Amino acid sequence: MDATLGDVLGVLDRLYDPAWAESWDAVGLVTGDPGQVVRRVLFAVDPMRVVVDEAIEGKFDLLVTHHPLLLKGVNSVAATTPKGRVIHDLIRGGVALQVCHTNADNANPGVSDALAAALGLKDTRPLKAMPSEPMDKVVVYVPANETQEMIDALAVAGAGQIGDYGRAAWTVTGEGTFRPLERANPTIGEVGTVERVVEDRVEMVLPRRRRRAVVEALRAAHSYEEPAFDIFEMAALPSERGGGRIGVLAEPLSLEQFAELVAERLPRTEHGVRVSGDPERMIETVAVVGGAGDSEFDRVRAAGVDAYVTADLRHHPATEARAYDAGPALVDVAHWASEWPWLKDAERLVKQQLADQGFTINTHISTTCTDPWTLHL
Ligand SMILES: [Zn+2]
Repeated sequence: MDATLGDVLGVLDRLYDPAWAESWDAVGLVTGDPGQVVRRVLFAVDPMRVVVDEAIEGKFDLLVTHHPLLLKGVNSVAATTPKGRVIHDLIRGGVALQVCHTNADNANPGVSDALAAALGLKDTRPLKAMPSEPMDKVVVYVPANETQEMIDALAVAGAGQIGDYGRAAWTVTGEGTFRPLERANPTIGEVGTVERVVEDRVEMVLPRRRRRAVVEALRAAHSYEEPAFDIFEMAALPSERGGGRIGVLAEPLSLEQFAELVAERLPRTEHGVRVSGDPERMIETVAVVGGAGDSEFDRVRAAGVDAYVTADLRHHPATEARAYDAGPALVDVAHWASEWPWLKDAERLVKQQLADQGFTINTHISTTCTDPWTLHL
């Protein structure tokens, strides 16, 4: 069965949710109509002219790139500018362009997972973990014979989801007591008399965004005029998503051997692999950031790793980070090479998830090196 662009975007948006992108980024669909049929998909790092030509000449219906074509706002896509010309040619060639940039960096698995896997790192965790979704806990006290109905009502409103389990709740039985005052209209008991009722304390978690719906459901389901309940904001735990990864080599290597491994496992570029540090130094723990990584030095230092593999390192941040050899060894690779391994992951996951929905799709990974450095003397 043929997939539409909308079907493919549905899969991509689940893997690389646009909501995970940084606020300055511009991800998502650049050209294309969600209703168009997609039979052939090309994956590439950069939507450079040469890659766009590869997509058009190869009769691909969709080009998925990591870097945006249009990051900053534009007032014109006239064919008189190079990017306007690209837009025209993509549309004329029937090629949709979809960008998965920092939303792919922050995914799990994301861009840095692929880099870590290419280098054989184990036990990986995010360098810059994103907080998990904000959660609340609702605690409500209900007459014991209403407990199951209350749990049902709260579950329908969005409470009680824990991983692959729904309607999850915890209860304990106790005693509630109250004296209905003058103007009360009590369900149980009478005005002026102290009442004691066997009640259950029901606890359920809920995403904070469902708070209003859950409280409304609670009030609707409770038989009391004034239900007693509490909402607690739960502490945020780090999630498994986020930028960069920290991992461990299967066995320690000297910095020189490790750099050779990096050069061997990543696609070759003119930029090559630059190393800062004593070549004899032993490397076991490694931090990686696909793409430009000199904004993450503080986190890398705090993680106490032996080496940091990333791209686009500059003189001053790099020398500061080395801290007279007290800091991690640095392995600087081409930006393009650091992100290219992700294409294989994206291709495999998209293909697999479309197949699960009964769609067949033909995919290809561009091997055209779009690193800007073309000669290294
Ligand atoms: Zn990048």
